[in-house]
Amino acid sequence: MAYNDLYIQMKAINRSLAALKILTGDECIRTMPQGISFQNTLVCNLRCPHCQTHGNEKDRIYYNGIRMSQEMLYRAAREVLPTADEYLFTVSGEPLTTPNMNILLREFSQYAAKIEMHTNGTLITPEILVHLLPAAKGIHVSIDGATPFVLEATRKGAKYDRLMHNIRLLTRSVEMLPDHMRPMIYFGCTIMASNVRELSAMVELAHLLGVHHVYGYFVVIYHNELRQEDIQLHQRLYNACRQQAVDTANRLGVHLCIPPAFEGVVPSLEGPLGGSERIIGRFPKNYPESLNAVHELKDLVDVEKVEKQAMQVRDQILGRLKDKRLFSGYRDMMGGVRQYIGLKRLQRYYHRTLRQHKTTLEEALTSENQQTIKFCESLYRRLYLSPTGKVIPCCYIYHPLGDASNECIGDIWNGEAYRNFRAKFLSENPPKECIGCHNISWVRPVDLARDLCSCLNGNLVFRPT
Ligand code: SF4
Repeated sequence: MAYNDLYIQMKAINRSLAALKILTGDECIRTMPQGISFQNTLVCNLRCPHCQTHGNEKDRIYYNGIRMSQEMLYRAAREVLPTADEYLFTVSGEPLTTPNMNILLREFSQYAAKIEMHTNGTLITPEILVHLLPAAKGIHVSIDGATPFVLEATRKGAKYDRLMHNIRLLTRSVEMLPDHMRPMIYFGCTIMASNVRELSAMVELAHLLGVHHVYGYFVVIYHNELRQEDIQLHQRLYNACRQQAVDTANRLGVHLCIPPAFEGVVPSLEGPLGGSERIIGRFPKNYPESLNAVHELKDLVDVEKVEKQAMQVRDQILGRLKDKRLFSGYRDMMGGVRQYIGLKRLQRYYHRTLRQHKTTLEEALTSENQQTIKFCESLYRRLYLSPTGKVIPCCYIYHPLGDASNECIGDIWNGEAYRNFRAKFLSENPPKECIGCHNISWVRPVDLARDLCSCLNGNLVFRPT
């Protein structure tokens, strides 16, 4: 049996146990996180003024000095990735600044977990794509402007032409891969006063570059000198720009997900360009023309160069895949034996646990009375690992629930602090950070039970009777 098959079975069992744990509320069921966000580096090569961590020089110097040790990163990966479905590298820095990223991606790919990458796109190279694309489930490119002027002002340090090339190289390489190997590519935009008029143009840009999903979020003001960027102060303008963007997305078939319009506010494009307490104080005279300019892809990138590089990326990925298939089964016999024993142990535990909760499961599948269960994806499925080893459920919680530098992650995830936090989350008096959190959802027992049954295949399929 190849490594991949072992890990895929371990992940399926873990998913199933996690569903059972939520369904029964039995915190004694031992699971592992289904996803992990390694905050492996806080270094970023850009200086976006609205960024919480890199928006001013003092913070930038501080955060650019923080990296997780290789020892901790590899140790956490060895423990978590065999049972995890996905992982992220840093979301508070630029993951592609990580030294030897290629090696890291190659080594982590053995665990058959997929990566969700959030990148500013400026450091994408053909070499990185060869390793990143086969490992990726999704790649989110943060982009806050459609015109060179706004993009370079909001993503300080980025070069427009270079970024356009990188993004098109990314999407073209993906287009050349077989369907089942294609990660999703997204744009992620921070919406603020300086770029709100470009929302529609950003959708057009995405379409031109081959990006089919655009997500937008309102800026969070971390720096007082940028107070006027807050969209709450520009509700009429936002409603008007939002409508333009929605029309463009519908026309071009781009999936657009941005905050809803402000209710009862009449849309209007009136108002000054630029102003005080914003990233862009003054726009160039020709800005309106450049915003409305109609582009073709060839105006943005050297299409031939992209085509050539993307073909090389595709050929290398498919070539490496062939090599891997030929040799992976024989790489490390001892490691394979260890994993096989681990899988067998997990299977026994799984069957034992299922037997214990058989009645609850049967009821969930058949009962008419489906009382929904409070759920948070971050709390029950993922964890964040800070550069110093602190473990938190999500980026809103500052108080760590464990320290991976002296405890294993499995013990933290199943330990007392996590149990107490989940119990409080479910209680009438939840942690203050969770009150009103947009990540909260409600799940029906029958859906959890069905998920649980569908997680597994072959001889592991759960049969309720
Ligand atoms: S703050 Fe939100 S995301 Fe974090 S644990 Fe609470 S509900 Fe989940």
